[in-house]
Amino acid sequence: MKELPYGSFKVFGELSRRMEKSYHRLMTSKIYSLGYLLNDTLSAPKQIEPEAHPGVFGHTGQQSGRYLLALIAHQCFFGLQIPRIERIAKAVLVEQRPDGNFGPLRTISSAHRDDFCCMSGQSWLLKAFLELYLLFKEQPYLEAAMRLVDWYKRVLPAFDRPEYKTQQPPGYLSWVTMNLDGVVLLYRITKKEKYLDLANYLADLTLPYGPFHTHHFLSSYRGLLDLYETTKSKDVLKKVTSTWGKIKKEAVLPTGGICELFPISPRDEGCSEADLVRVALSLFRATGEGEFMDMAERALLNALFMDQVPNGGFTFRKNIDRGRATSGFLHAGRDEAFHCCTLHAPQALLKAAQHLITFNSDTVWINLFFPCSARFELQKDMLLEVNVQTRYPQDEFIQIIINPQRKQKFQLKVRIPEFVNFTEISINNIYTEPTFEKGYASFSRIWKKGDRVQVRFTLRYRYEKTQLNNIHTTEDSESNVKTTPEVNAKKDRARQTFSYGPLCLASESNEAPLALKPIASVSEYHNFDVRFIH
Ligand SMILES: [Zn+2]
Repeated sequence: MKELPYGSFKVFGELSRRMEKSYHRLMTSKIYSLGYLLNDTLSAPKQIEPEAHPGVFGHTGQQSGRYLLALIAHQCFFGLQIPRIERIAKAVLVEQRPDGNFGPLRTISSAHRDDFCCMSGQSWLLKAFLELYLLFKEQPYLEAAMRLVDWYKRVLPAFDRPEYKTQQPPGYLSWVTMNLDGVVLLYRITKKEKYLDLANYLADLTLPYGPFHTHHFLSSYRGLLDLYETTKSKDVLKKVTSTWGKIKKEAVLPTGGICELFPISPRDEGCSEADLVRVALSLFRATGEGEFMDMAERALLNALFMDQVPNGGFTFRKNIDRGRATSGFLHAGRDEAFHCCTLHAPQALLKAAQHLITFNSDTVWINLFFPCSARFELQKDMLLEVNVQTRYPQDEFIQIIINPQRKQKFQLKVRIPEFVNFTEISINNIYTEPTFEKGYASFSRIWKKGDRVQVRFTLRYRYEKTQLNNIHTTEDSESNVKTTPEVNAKKDRARQTFSYGPLCLASESNEAPLALKPIASVSEYHNFDVRFIH
């Protein structure tokens, strides 16, 4: 199954507006000066000292790596030329040590307790260099990536030593294994077996579900899915799906989002919600199961969208229950995480846009209902144009217009979300009984220009009350770096939500602070009157 290629489609509506806002923030914010971006690499004054805070500037290469990745994704998606990409990339290249590392000099035996942050920081740089190579086809980028991975492989044993492990919080290995997607991409580019071996080694190291930092944990799982896409290893996919079952059962909030730490913690983070969306999209591509699209949709509408603030940036919430019952468009209770979420979250919006429609040579899937217009090569010399017109979920009606280059037989699959009570479908104004499979209504026929599929849902109102167990008791997300997170099993805590279709209209808990999202964006979905919810 393929996602929509760059340049083959246009998106309209809320998703499009949010993409434009986040791009505007990336390009106009004065924060991202060259001096700032190089602040966490070799020549910067703020290197990790033994007692220095391993936060923003301890994650070697994180700032330039994340910023470059964000700009490259937007350049490819919108077909733009962003000159500063090369300028920053060239400046970062100079920062690499001869051994490949961009950070403080260490030996395996002298690995510092915070060095796993350097590993995670440089994972962004690794992917950035590979994307730069794919974009510009310039050898120095690929060579820098190879040197970095070779260094990475040399120092990996440091993180497995018993004396190192005992100093670390649970889950630190996720910060080490999140390099997996970069290593897989390096293998795809070079076809060198040693990189595939390293990828498989990292896949084995990838942690099972536990009380860990969700962004780094899910970043490692994005890598596992990239590995699955490359090798089709059933074991790898099984590892992801079985973990996913636990995440869905224990950690996904009734809104569809997740917290900053598994399973429930007082903070959330745009980055991990973006990862949740991306893992769900990849799982859908791997399995064709509509339940993953349902998850992606709810995480997108109720969590990621709500994390975006008016300047276009993305946020984390220090005190998640502050600002409850406010719109995500307001700043209430949220801080922009310009050093991570503003850079990482927009890429999930772009990925979601590429998954509005997916296809292979004989099937087209209509997945997420945002208005869009796509024109792509279904088969060799057979262009297919698909237009989706809808105001869903404000409106329960979706119209899909099919324009094949010539008459062509293929299967059209339209997602029927789990929160739909009733579906009515017509093709060219004739009511049709589709077959249903994996959460999709399926129609196989010879399609011709101008065929019109009309779908009318009856979305369900839902009230849910869920008991909350295993809650992190600390407020500080950095606890997962500095200390062991305390997880308490407590009774008599419950979350209640009121939803309409995919939209969570209100959520409430009987004990603060709990990670519950505010009411869905009332300013966007203004036809819902939520005043009676409290
Ligand atoms: Zn973040």
